[in-house]
Amino acid sequence: MGSLNIENVKKAFGPVEVLKGINLEVNDGEFVVFVGPSGCGKSTLLRVIAGLEDSTSGRVVIDGEDVSATPPAKRGIAMVFQTYALYPHLTVKNNMGLGLKQAGTPAAEIERRIGIASSMLSLEPYLERRPAELSGGQRQRVAIGRAVVREPKLFLFDEPLSNLDAALRVNTRLEIAQLHRRLKATMIYVTHDQVEAMTLADKIVVLNAGRIEQIGGPMELYNSPANEFVAGFIGSPK
Ligand code: ADP
Ligand code: MG
Repeated sequence: MGSLNIENVKKAFGPVEVLKGINLEVNDGEFVVFVGPSGCGKSTLLRVIAGLEDSTSGRVVIDGEDVSATPPAKRGIAMVFQTYALYPHLTVKNNMGLGLKQAGTPAAEIERRIGIASSMLSLEPYLERRPAELSGGQRQRVAIGRAVVREPKLFLFDEPLSNLDAALRVNTRLEIAQLHRRLKATMIYVTHDQVEAMTLADKIVVLNAGRIEQIGGPMELYNSPANEFVAGFIGSPK
């Protein structure tokens, strides 16, 4: 399970309204990509979904339950950030297991899940290393692995490839696509890269200045952009 409904979500920072009434349905197992220019509210929307930021109004509903007042750790969501956000003093294994340990998961179950995730992400040789001993791509795989072991209903990725070089971006993108196929989990993925959006998404949400311009499948947006903005973003001539 992992359906998401965003109902008229607004978010203001002081006088500035950053999300201006977002409505969105995400089905269980869907891969949804948010695209839009820098500053349009993509990260803020992810943070509101995760509960890291309260909305000013509106509701976030996961599997039919209003979680607007539910703390982040209880929402069944795992988020992967551009900057990895790993603990430098912990090994790869302990970085991956820390959240489960804090949640009181038995040690044997933590081991089992780390085994599965590290195999999926080819991290077995690195489990006893610390983040400083890893490449950027490996660090990002650890951050993804840390999300996988939590077995979340919903994965949120905020520009996870932005700090990687071009070759690694392609590899890591393919790994994320494979993970989606294997886990059949619901994933929401933020990027400003059209290629990532077109290749990963079941459904693309085009954001602009705190509003949704259009929602549709990659080919639908490419062939029938609703307006000049979408056409410019998805890159088809209009
Ligand atoms: P994106 O991820 O699409 O680049 P963000 O969601 O990070 O955009 O930011 C949207 C807007 O909200 C920006 O103008 C940004 O400066 C502003 N913003 C984001 N977080 C805060 C904050 N904590 N306080 C004030 N303004 C913020
Ligand atoms: Mg952002």
